[in-house]
Amino acid sequence: MDLLDTLTAKGLRGEVPTREEALAVLATTDDELLDVVAAAGKVRRRWFGRRVKLNYLVNLKSGLCPEDCSYCSQRLGSKAEILKYTWLKPEQAADAARAGVAGGAKRVCLVASGRGPTDRDIDRVTDTMAAIKDADPEVEICVCLGLLSDNQAERLKAAGADAYNHNLNTSENTYGTITKTHTYADRVDTVQKAHGAGLSACSGLIAGMGETDEDLVDVVFALRELGSDSVPVNFLIPFEGTPLAKEWNLTPQRCLRILAMVRFVNPDTEVRIAGGREVHLRSMQPLGLHIANSIFLGDYLTSEGQAGQADLDMIKDAGFEVEGAGEATLPRHRADVAEAAAAAGSCGSAASACGSGGGCGPCGGHSHGAPEAAPVTEGTDDGPREDLVKVRRRGAGTELAPNA
Ligand code: SF4
Repeated sequence: MDLLDTLTAKGLRGEVPTREEALAVLATTDDELLDVVAAAGKVRRRWFGRRVKLNYLVNLKSGLCPEDCSYCSQRLGSKAEILKYTWLKPEQAADAARAGVAGGAKRVCLVASGRGPTDRDIDRVTDTMAAIKDADPEVEICVCLGLLSDNQAERLKAAGADAYNHNLNTSENTYGTITKTHTYADRVDTVQKAHGAGLSACSGLIAGMGETDEDLVDVVFALRELGSDSVPVNFLIPFEGTPLAKEWNLTPQRCLRILAMVRFVNPDTEVRIAGGREVHLRSMQPLGLHIANSIFLGDYLTSEGQAGQADLDMIKDAGFEVEGAGEATLPRHRADVAEAAAAAGSCGSAASACGSGGGCGPCGGHSHGAPEAAPVTEGTDDGPREDLVKVRRRGAGTELAPNA
């Protein structure tokens, strides 16, 4: 298949496909699916070998958010019966983090609901990071606290944070239909602030919200231009009690095509299968490992994943290995670029072509025009799978041991 030969050749050279080629990946048939996975797998192995990076989520503050992100069980007005609690104490968070690291996680992701942190919140997270790094100085810490104000990224960097997560989630064109309390530009600004402060940028998307193929391609190219070092690919978990509860639009095959498209556009970037892995990929999860080089271990913020041991068994059975603390995740040339960007206090990377036309201003701000295609709703043959959505009742914020 010419398309896959072209994409493989470009990916092996670290080159980005055209927008038309990315769209064509999403339009491939189920008969072509294993060829698509194999082609993306060659690119994945070129830059990341057979390593799988494990990340562990700690929800520092759950629910009761004033923002209205339609996909989120913690949103304003959410009726989802999730755990709701205010800031964990540093030692409580460090205990949860320790469980993840003991389970094989290399990175701990400290997440709090809310529009953005106060300066007092930055102090709390600083104390939490100190407690985690006291126990294990090697552990990578990624912080996710919402929209950042001036100097907060610098404070987090000085306190020992390695990365900051803030997802773009969907295309600029559709962002306003998903969230009304903040804008796509607000999100781009926070990723730029984090990157400008020398934090590794982690920014990704959510698929399955009724978006078009064009929307998916738009956001993935925007993430590339923004210089995201890691791209989490979430598959919408349609929580009862949220506006998107009925959006069951994904099949395992479509999830694999989306992952492959993300890999081809980001050949040498960490691609992470994030929330919704178990719900939507189901028994096809091991095929996802041939495309992505990173997953979350155990549970998610407000929902439960499969047992941590099942994650480890899956990695081993599929012929992959857990990435060790001493191993670099990104290929050497990407790490060089990230270090240079941090030193210069600039966003983006050489590979991202960010700033073509004037520094950081244009990063992620491009529009590729209004989508013409109708929303993609492949649906599942057997309808919604609410049985697979399990609210988290263990780990951080509970008396029960974490799943790791
Ligand atoms: S995604 Fe974040 S900002 Fe949006 S509602 Fe959920 S917790 Fe709040």
